[in-house]
Amino acid sequence: MLPRLSDNHVIPEKIFKMKVKCAAQVFSQRVSSTMNFLSSRNIISPDAVDTAFLCQFFDNLFDSLNGSFDKIVDGKKYRTAVKKNSPHHELWDQSLKILSTMRFIDKNGKTTSVPTIRNWISTIKSFQTLYKVLQSVNIRSFLPRHINQDSLENFFGAIRSVGSTNPNCNAFIMAYKTLVLNNLVSPQSPGANCEEDFTEGSLSSFRNLFDKAKHFQTKTSTGINTAADFSETTNQLSLTTAFVQGQTKTFIAGYILKKLNKDLFKNCKYCLSLLCSTVSNDHDHQLISAREYKSSYQSLKYPSLSLKSVVHNIISYVGKKMPVVCHHEHIFYNLCNDVHNIFNFDDILNCPEHHKIFPIKIVEIVVKLMINHYCTEINRILLGKKKVRPNENDPIKKIANAWHLKHSKRKVQGKFNLVT
Ligand SMILES: [Zn+2]
Repeated sequence: MLPRLSDNHVIPEKIFKMKVKCAAQVFSQRVSSTMNFLSSRNIISPDAVDTAFLCQFFDNLFDSLNGSFDKIVDGKKYRTAVKKNSPHHELWDQSLKILSTMRFIDKNGKTTSVPTIRNWISTIKSFQTLYKVLQSVNIRSFLPRHINQDSLENFFGAIRSVGSTNPNCNAFIMAYKTLVLNNLVSPQSPGANCEEDFTEGSLSSFRNLFDKAKHFQTKTSTGINTAADFSETTNQLSLTTAFVQGQTKTFIAGYILKKLNKDLFKNCKYCLSLLCSTVSNDHDHQLISAREYKSSYQSLKYPSLSLKSVVHNIISYVGKKMPVVCHHEHIFYNLCNDVHNIFNFDDILNCPEHHKIFPIKIVEIVVKLMINHYCTEINRILLGKKKVRPNENDPIKKIANAWHLKHSKRKVQGKFNLVT
């Protein structure tokens, strides 16, 4: 009846005390309604009705502080935004009364006061105050989920995974930078939409931010503010975009350089001196430095300007060609040939030992990277993990998106059929 409940939920010695999930699974509508049903049929003691009430009570209270949808989803009326006429206010008032009369009794039969109840009360009171404050500055709706500690905990968890478990201020800043930049150039998508600019797609999250900012600006003029209003940061961010764009390009060139060195010139001094930047602590190389922090044993390479532009040119060219040739045979071979016919690599490297093999290798590496990347992109669109831009002109991506929309609709419909 309750497949999710295990010993770890109910037997005191076995309960996972730090897992909120376990508590949430016990104090749930499902447990509550099952208990009510069983006690009404006299299968369990009729007293269970009170326990069922308690489960439902905490389920509602938990939902009311964890709302992440504007509208009611799955009949959870408390897991919504807090607004003027939302049911939260009544629930909170009632809950304060109930919680203030709750008592814990210890082994010796004495009444004790436990922090849990006190903290519930102060949390609810804080939310009530917060709502009043937000309303006074014309913010009429907010989602409690955005205020809870989860995001903060996740953030600290991520920081620890990058740096040390107990970072000092400096290490914290470095780890934060690494996370932000890593996020924009994640390994499976070293630059998303390639047809216009290799780095553009990795910035889509930033662009979404601008679009949202604009959206909220227009809303502000009608007098409605929302808690997610961040229009004042727009100007700052456009500077950041240019910066990140440059950093990403450099990073990708650095990645290619490292691979070339490993496969081809194996620390040949002549090659490295031509392809590496002499200034390693350059403004341009902050992303590489930030990444290096993550794995200090692995020394990354700092690409020179000429290498950077070669890599970028190949990427732009292959990115433009991909939608046209991706369904043809031998794309790797053909793309490599095309690139060799169009670009001239003669004056980049004149190392006597490697100058012949260098153009072949660099083209192979970049073309392979781009094909893999393109396939990943298409797969992500098919799975609905990535949305195509409204002005998308890549026919393959459009088809992939249409396929996804067609199949996802069917799923949603199935779900509704199940519910009703
Ligand atoms: Zn060489």
